[in-house]
Amino acid sequence: GQCVLVCPTGALGERDETDRVLDYLFDPEIVTVFQFAPAVRVGFGEEFGFPVGTNVEGQIIAALRQLGADIVLDTNFAADVVIMEESAELLRRLGERRRPTFTSCCPAWINFAERHYPDLLPLLSSTKSPQQCLGVIAKTYLPERMGIDPARIRVISIMPCVAKKDERTRPQLQLANGMREVDLVLTTREFARLLKRRGLDLRNLTPSTFDNPYMSAYSGAGAIFGTTGGVMEAAVRTMYRIVNGRELEHTEVTPLRGFEGLRTAAVEVGGSVGTVKVAMAHGLGPTRELCERIRAGTADFDFIEIMACPGGCVDGGGNLRSKKAYRRNALKRRDTLFAIDRANGVRQSHNNPQVQALYRDFLEQPFSERAHQLLHTWYSDRSIAMTQTVKDVWDEITMST
Ligand code: SF4
Repeated sequence: GQCVLVCPTGALGERDETDRVLDYLFDPEIVTVFQFAPAVRVGFGEEFGFPVGTNVEGQIIAALRQLGADIVLDTNFAADVVIMEESAELLRRLGERRRPTFTSCCPAWINFAERHYPDLLPLLSSTKSPQQCLGVIAKTYLPERMGIDPARIRVISIMPCVAKKDERTRPQLQLANGMREVDLVLTTREFARLLKRRGLDLRNLTPSTFDNPYMSAYSGAGAIFGTTGGVMEAAVRTMYRIVNGRELEHTEVTPLRGFEGLRTAAVEVGGSVGTVKVAMAHGLGPTRELCERIRAGTADFDFIEIMACPGGCVDGGGNLRSKKAYRRNALKRRDTLFAIDRANGVRQSHNNPQVQALYRDFLEQPFSERAHQLLHTWYSDRSIAMTQTVKDVWDEITMST
């Protein structure tokens, strides 16, 4: 009825999908593959009374094992893969003098661009998001390595994000045989409900570690994807290496860090690329401001990171949120992501040994034919839905019946 008219996407509600996860877990024919996002490990503990920003990665892995998960993977691994593709893409586009390039890992930003700024769509990176990259690799490379029939695999994501539910149903995010790349998305809130339904309390679980030899290792660069500026910093680390053949001296690119809604910086990448002008926006207000400037031709940037949620995924719409303590909580979660990066022996996506193996044994190189087929996507102008008023839609419906 009315609701459909005012909600043109029909996907704004949060459907509880914990029942479907249990169906998958109890079906002996199905191989369940779980992934959880960079920001989930620093936002989920609060659901069980841990202090804000506690890293509960080990407890989440333990909880998934207790639930009966067959394979536990990390979206951070796929964030590293995204950086391999995106930095190669960015350098290629800079060489062709196509600028700016927007990041494409936030599905709420993709929806926003498709509806409000379709003229900017050619500027979006074609690289899929980490959630979708993980799904597609888990249904192609992983079964090949592990000798599993891909038709038996169901990929279930745990995300700090409601928009990820809508993303997994995009028609262009399917495998050639019609299988979805990702089969189910739980928000962190739903995941907490699922654990409580199964009588699991995160505080009573002994932290566990990943054990999948193909798709669970991650670099510090993959870990910081969950905060504003993190994708940019991860990309700079890898671009620098590609251009100069050696690592960036100061791994932490502090000029990119900050919390203002819209930040800009000039990063010296060197070589033939020189200085790269970057911008980072989080929250839809600053995003709109930046898009208007691009459209008007008054902004001068090479690479732009957009995160729809203020703070980035650390304060995503699927996490526990506090209006009052939003900034303080988001900063605490962010600081834990930075600490995870700092503690990691591998800090660049291209140095992740499992990512290196994926390219060596399966994809060949970023932007290879296979990488293009599996890890890149396209966007479509969906502005038409927004040019109609509710009354226009209503008139059409009542006239046709
Ligand atoms: Fe989802 Fe928000 Fe992160 Fe975008 S910024 S991917 S909407 S949680």
